[in-house]
Amino acid sequence: MSQNATKKRSGTVLLLATRNIGIFAHVDAGKTTTTERVLFYTNSKHKIGNVDEQDTTTDFMEQEKERGITIQSAAVSCSWKDVVINLIDTPGHVDFTMEVERSMRVLDGGVLVLCAKGGVQPQTRTVWRQAEKHRVPRIVFVNKMDTLGADFYRVLSQIKSELKAKPAVLQLPIGQSSEFVGVVDLLSMKALVWDSSDPSGMTIKEQEIPSHLADEATEYRKALIELIAEGDDSLLEKYLSDEPISEAELKAALRKDVIAMRLVPVMCGSAFKNKGIQPLLDAVAELLPSPLDVPPVTGVLEDGTEASRETDDSAPLAALAFKVMSNNVGNAVHGHLTFVRVYSGVLNSGSQVYNSNKDTRERVSRLVKMQGNRQEEVTALHAGEIGAVIGLKSTTTGDTLCDDDNSIKLESISAPEPVISQAIEPKDRAGADKLADALSKLALEDPSFRRNTDPETGQTIISGQGELHLEIKVDILDRSYGIKVSTGKPEVSYRETVRGKARGIGKHIKQSGGHGQYGHAEIELEPLPPGSGFEFVDAIVGGTVPREYISSVEKGIHSALAEGVLAGYPVVDVRATLVFGSSHDVDSSDMAFQMAGRLAFQDACRKAQPVLLEPVMELVVEVPESYMGDIIGDISSRRGKVLGFDTADGTTIVRANVPLATVFGYSTVLRGRTKGQGVFTLTFSHYEPVPQSVGEEIVSKRKS
Ligand code: GDP
Repeated sequence: MSQNATKKRSGTVLLLATRNIGIFAHVDAGKTTTTERVLFYTNSKHKIGNVDEQDTTTDFMEQEKERGITIQSAAVSCSWKDVVINLIDTPGHVDFTMEVERSMRVLDGGVLVLCAKGGVQPQTRTVWRQAEKHRVPRIVFVNKMDTLGADFYRVLSQIKSELKAKPAVLQLPIGQSSEFVGVVDLLSMKALVWDSSDPSGMTIKEQEIPSHLADEATEYRKALIELIAEGDDSLLEKYLSDEPISEAELKAALRKDVIAMRLVPVMCGSAFKNKGIQPLLDAVAELLPSPLDVPPVTGVLEDGTEASRETDDSAPLAALAFKVMSNNVGNAVHGHLTFVRVYSGVLNSGSQVYNSNKDTRERVSRLVKMQGNRQEEVTALHAGEIGAVIGLKSTTTGDTLCDDDNSIKLESISAPEPVISQAIEPKDRAGADKLADALSKLALEDPSFRRNTDPETGQTIISGQGELHLEIKVDILDRSYGIKVSTGKPEVSYRETVRGKARGIGKHIKQSGGHGQYGHAEIELEPLPPGSGFEFVDAIVGGTVPREYISSVEKGIHSALAEGVLAGYPVVDVRATLVFGSSHDVDSSDMAFQMAGRLAFQDACRKAQPVLLEPVMELVVEVPESYMGDIIGDISSRRGKVLGFDTADGTTIVRANVPLATVFGYSTVLRGRTKGQGVFTLTFSHYEPVPQSVGEEIVSKRKS
């Protein structure tokens, strides 16, 4: 903690005692159960809920119907001892980059839940990479120690070999599988045993370390102290001269290592059996960073310069909206909740704030914090805090709220463009009435999901990040909104671009009788690097296109971008430079120049070697080693490129790039090929030109 930080506002103590964290896991490792238990022991919920009985705080869909309240939330606050923990919901499926991004952006630390049997799984690796990228310090909780086949030590070696992490082992399990009763705490050298007569897990007995574990515990403690001392000179000196090192000293040094992401504490337990959660909460409080321990947020000022904002109430306001959700109270929906993290300054209820992304002023009608399933109204959210605003109208995920006279734009959370779309149709009349409303809510909550109406067929089209993404939305429509829909075949969202440079001429000239029309524009078109989108440059000299019509030309080009010349897909990654044109005193108009721009763009596209682009996914498959050859062969037959593979403990992980068009239904394929033993993740990677023969087929199909 810097001197500067300790001197800060009176709320500093509060801030030092705040933890904004997320819980990550591979599906089924126990994220929901762990979250549930955390809320139970921190007392914001008074009954232990089990996922299997569909009574949990974050798995909301089923019971939302039963209880008529929303208990799922983008952020829930609870307290443990003197610390306020804001639990930020992380996506259940790591395949959706945007959902991961938005939660990673606003949290300061995380708990990675691993299954003691399954260990490091494909999604664990993905989420680990994302946490590394966003520099999120974390603790590993090896869950399901009670399950048959649980092996703490195997998981530990996987953490080293597969996640390339340096684990600081803080606990050893006492017994595994059905024998699991508690843990040895290697910092205090005590055994913590959960009393079997109290199924709530609230009674913990502190005991001597069982004799059969004594040697192992001593050995692991020695390794732990060495590891911590390596990063701290004064501890190293003490260690080398055999002086005693206190538990507090060890924790303080370990905390620094965790925040610097040098070490990853590893703990264990069984969320389901209510063992191990309290020590995990202690570790969250003692070892993960407070908002003051992370670097100040940076953003861009109005004049384009970069600036940072300290986590300080007296600094100007900077808050990031990271999730918009409908605000269901009882069976009614009361507008929506906009979840924000305040990075600097204070967000006051009743105040006006400036949305620097939308250039609008917004009124903060009310502020709430979610406590379990209750909304607690607060008057202000301070720097470092997380909560929700009621009453914002135009703010969406990724927008910055700030002071009017101290505008800043924090890095936004960009919504990726959809790569796949599908027609849906309600199965009955009742569903038809509710569909539009439900879809607009889904799109509001997840900006990477879109819905629109096909102008030709009138069909409702949904689009998103992959087959699974759309499947989940269809499932939500059914389970949360009671709308059953039938779905059409998923369609790949192709794009178009150009490979060469060309000049395009657009003339919209009609001068037969009456008031004529005159627009003439010429553009140079050239390709831009992937992901650049579209750029318009005005290079007119001598007024060949009058000032007032330059934006008309640009508008015309924009409208032409939506439908490329090859097969009518959107055009991306090109620069159009307006270089020449002519006008007529009387007949020129905004409309005429829009048309000219459009025609010039289309002309240039045709001449500049247009190509079709297709979305390419990153596929990570994990299979028993014996299936490796088969899986790689199959990937190649799908026009895929294997990027690499790794085999450890009889399991092979294959990483590949595969066109989305060839991996529809991959879950069924993989299940069939591996007798259900394979798992995979599929994330959008990039757009790539379609091979010519494939492209021709797509174009002719589209045109027929
Ligand atoms: P999530 O997909 O990561 O959110 O995982 P859940 O919390 O939904 O758990 C998946 C399944 O594992 C459920 O059937 C849980 O009851 C079960 N489970 C979770 N934690 C434990 C545990 O500690 N021990 C055992 N035996 N089962 C657990």
